[in-house]
Amino acid sequence: MSQVVTRFAPSPTGYLHIGGARTALFSWAYAKNQGGKMLLRIEDTDRERSTEAAVTALIDGLKWLGLDWDGEPISQFARAARHADIAHELVKMGHAYYCYCSPEELEQMREDARAAGKPPRYNGYWRDRDPSEAPEGIKPVVRIKAPLSGEIIVHDHVQGDVVFKTENLDDFIILRSDGTPTYMHAVVVDDHDMGVTHIIRGDDHLTNAARQIVIYNAMGWPVPEMAHIPLIHGPDGAKLSKRHGALGVEAYRQMGYLPEAVRNYLARLGWSHGDDEIFSTEQMVEWFSLEALNKGAARFDFVKLENINGHY
Ligand code: GLU
Repeated sequence: MSQVVTRFAPSPTGYLHIGGARTALFSWAYAKNQGGKMLLRIEDTDRERSTEAAVTALIDGLKWLGLDWDGEPISQFARAARHADIAHELVKMGHAYYCYCSPEELEQMREDARAAGKPPRYNGYWRDRDPSEAPEGIKPVVRIKAPLSGEIIVHDHVQGDVVFKTENLDDFIILRSDGTPTYMHAVVVDDHDMGVTHIIRGDDHLTNAARQIVIYNAMGWPVPEMAHIPLIHGPDGAKLSKRHGALGVEAYRQMGYLPEAVRNYLARLGWSHGDDEIFSTEQMVEWFSLEALNKGAARFDFVKLENINGHY
């Protein structure tokens, strides 16, 4: 098999939060375990929400945790022309099309669907329509043709085989009318171009994976291996809140926690190696496997982190 390439792909819209740090740690540990590479891709296509300060905070957070990456950080925004080229290529191949619907028409479509008791989705209006019917002066979006029937199966290292009915995926937008790519499309083009073999990320991206596979299949590109890890919950099982530890890595540094302790604790949140609580970085790298990632949601517990910190 070719060399393992993982990536950490944060959006620079805030600090490196504890969930993102854990995703980075697992991507890093797997790459190291396999003698492969981890890339750092800054997903800065959302120009309004992305900031330089957040990029610095992400990089500082990773460095503080002792996680390194191969090569320079890659800016997703800098690759926008490539994303657009692939979207137009998909149109030429017959796997995508230009859609000229106005916001009013789309709203009407959603209302009609709701009235008919169907999910409010795009109804494929421009899917088979001749572009010569296009109204003047409207810049189109590009939509991918989602298969009309059948299934998309995400073969996931953590979740097992997750089946999505394609009828539930609409013809989603891959390129906006201003020529910028959507997240869904940019991620696929980048992961492919960068030779990413393993995508490790939060399971909030599992349904995105099904849509991304539609793009991979349309381009005839191999789908990378995937591992969607359950998000971290609070000790009561509820979504992790600030009070429960949903803080930036920087906050832990300021509270006086040691990077080794935070790294050690994060490793144990969703990955296990017997009953071992304390291990060195070398041991984690040596022991790490995707198969040992837990399917159940991990619960954040300050007391445990405190105890681990006390060991160092
Ligand atoms: N940029 C996305 C995020 O911060 C992650 C994309 C991905 O891992 O595919 O949630």
